Amino acid sequence: PEMVIRLNDVSQTYKVRKRGSFGAVDSLRAVRNVTFDVRRGDSFAVVGESGCGKSTLMRLLSRLEKPAGGEVLCEGRDIAKLSGSELLAFRRKLQLVLQDPFGSLPPRTAIGAMLEAPLRTHGWRDPKKIREKVRDVMNDVGLPVALYDELPLGLSAGQRQRVNVARAMVLDPEILLMDETLSALDQTEQFRLLALFDKLQREHALTYIFISHDLAMVRKACNRIAVMYLGEVVELADNERLFFDPGHPYTRALLSAMPTLEERRYRPEDCLLEGEPPSPIDLPEGCAFRSRCPQAFEACARTNPLLTVRGADDLASCHLVPSPQALAARAAMLAG
Ligand code: SF4
Ligand code: MG
Repeated sequence: PEMVIRLNDVSQTYKVRKRGSFGAVDSLRAVRNVTFDVRRGDSFAVVGESGCGKSTLMRLLSRLEKPAGGEVLCEGRDIAKLSGSELLAFRRKLQLVLQDPFGSLPPRTAIGAMLEAPLRTHGWRDPKKIREKVRDVMNDVGLPVALYDELPLGLSAGQRQRVNVARAMVLDPEILLMDETLSALDQTEQFRLLALFDKLQREHALTYIFISHDLAMVRKACNRIAVMYLGEVVELADNERLFFDPGHPYTRALLSAMPTLEERRYRPEDCLLEGEPPSPIDLPEGCAFRSRCPQAFEACARTNPLLTVRGADDLASCHLVPSPQALAARAAMLAG
């Protein structure tokens, strides 16, 4: 399938004040050389612990920020270069669904008016057509149309999240970028929202990008997953492969902390996540994961491993992941 979003060697750096010294600045490398593709119809996930660069990536993908290096392409166009009507078209095409169902709805605006606002911003004028569209979308996301003139005050957390989804859906987007969208909901509501996302994806040919720390949710909802550690993608794989044959020690560590994974094909004793990550301001040479990696060895301190192809569509950045060439050479040796 066609690539909808492509990140090409994307980096982001922030200036931060140096501790204890007046006026001096350090640079914090929040996202480092990230490359991946999101295909049309994917439910793509970016996962990792807090501080791994997920939030920065979310801002780069939605053009709330422009990258310091590399490019974010949407349907082949560098989104940093869009302006005017092209930028407006991109903003319609990619909609952000935010995290906090309690903080993100204006308390004194009726639900219907809230959903009308983006349409007006994007040039809709006919009040009748606007009302019709809003009713359609409310139906689509499972909000009773009777809530049209109600304030968000009495809504449940799940209903509030549906309002957020409706706010994004009202512009007929192609891509929904979900930033920890389900984190504030209980299990039952999460399950309902996931079913809704599934339905919306089928009916509207949507592409999803989930930014999340919740691997159990990602296991259920996503077909392709990028695992981030300290600003880098350390593994990029399809769902089955990632959960049952992960290539990176960090992915194994994350999975070993998942209580609900029914089937484990890796050794949990290899996977305890201990120690602290190094500061993103003072990154050491070599593999950024080595201070916590149970398998670290000499080479890990010298060189940062590159993302290496493990299988058809699966990459991991670890010196222990054999390249296809190395595997082929080994097979040839064994055969010979
Ligand atoms: Fe661990 Fe070394 Fe692999 Fe980094 S490169 S994940 S330190 S084994
Ligand atoms: Mg973050």
